[in-house]
Amino acid sequence: MKRVLSGIRATGRLHLGNYLGAVKGMLELQENSDYETFYMVADLHTITVPYEVEVLRKNRREVIIDYLAAGLDPEKSVIFQQANVPEHVELGYLFSSITTIAKMQHLPTFKEKVKQHPEHATMALLNYPVLMAADILIYKAGLVPVGLDQEPHIEVAREIARRMNQDYGTDFPEPKRFATPGQYVPSLTGEGKMSKSVEGSYVNLTDSLEEIKSKIAKIPTDSGKGSEIVGGVKTLMEFVELFEGKEKRSSFEEQYRTSGVRYSEIKEQLSEAIFKELEPIQKRRAELEKDTEYVDRVIREGAEKARKVARETVKEVREKMGLV
Ligand code: AMP
Repeated sequence: MKRVLSGIRATGRLHLGNYLGAVKGMLELQENSDYETFYMVADLHTITVPYEVEVLRKNRREVIIDYLAAGLDPEKSVIFQQANVPEHVELGYLFSSITTIAKMQHLPTFKEKVKQHPEHATMALLNYPVLMAADILIYKAGLVPVGLDQEPHIEVAREIARRMNQDYGTDFPEPKRFATPGQYVPSLTGEGKMSKSVEGSYVNLTDSLEEIKSKIAKIPTDSGKGSEIVGGVKTLMEFVELFEGKEKRSSFEEQYRTSGVRYSEIKEQLSEAIFKELEPIQKRRAELEKDTEYVDRVIREGAEKARKVARETVKEVREKMGLV
């Protein structure tokens, strides 16, 4: 059976970018019986930028709850916390022996993070894509449901797989990204992508209807009429398509070019549509928050299942690399 791996860092509540770009793809593949799905909380990736210990301790559990609330099912997927499977780190180290520093320094994600945290250009940050390759290849996963921003990292994983297979005779697949319609969710500011690190750019999965309305209301717009759809108006149209369908978007765009549109109505309807999708997730989340024992069990059993597979791969790689 083909395997799938994905993960989200433990940086707080999930936002619509994580949900549409990653979680929706994770759900789709979970429901496809051709695939065996492994979904982790990428807590080891979280410590590549400055963080607070107690906040991380809380968030690595919160993401598990978000996963379960969104519909990930421990009966169908292996749901786990990355740090509970230390074999990822070992395989990452072995992979680092065939990865050059120059290659890692040139990745756009590395440069971006160094710009954000110039005092924190650490080895862990440089090693991020190598550990991510280990996350994927330790399960021999061929498919990775993640957003568009992760494409350069998937390319690194493919290169590492090829190199390992050539040099040591392993049988790693060359993983591909599984893209969803929301593979690039724009920022509510009208510039760049939705991101936890940009205040005012995101809607959280836990936001109330009032919060969603107030955030959507802030998407910058114009007079409502014109020939070219750009900036915040384009962002608004993309959200309309993602939550209300292509036809609705086309119809608003047609109106924009002819009679003009009323943003207050579009934003009101869009906010309702977003909340309609999030409300059941929020209800399940409230139940899960009360069920500590269940969440603990999911975490414990997920780690056991993941480790079983991870151990096998590391054993094989150790043997092939002359370490046994
Ligand atoms: P991160 O929070 O960086 O660990 O990202 C977790 C997942 O969410 C990754 O698969 C990202 O590609 C995805 N993601 C984050 N932001 C966005 C966005 N604005 N649009 C689409 N996917 C996103």
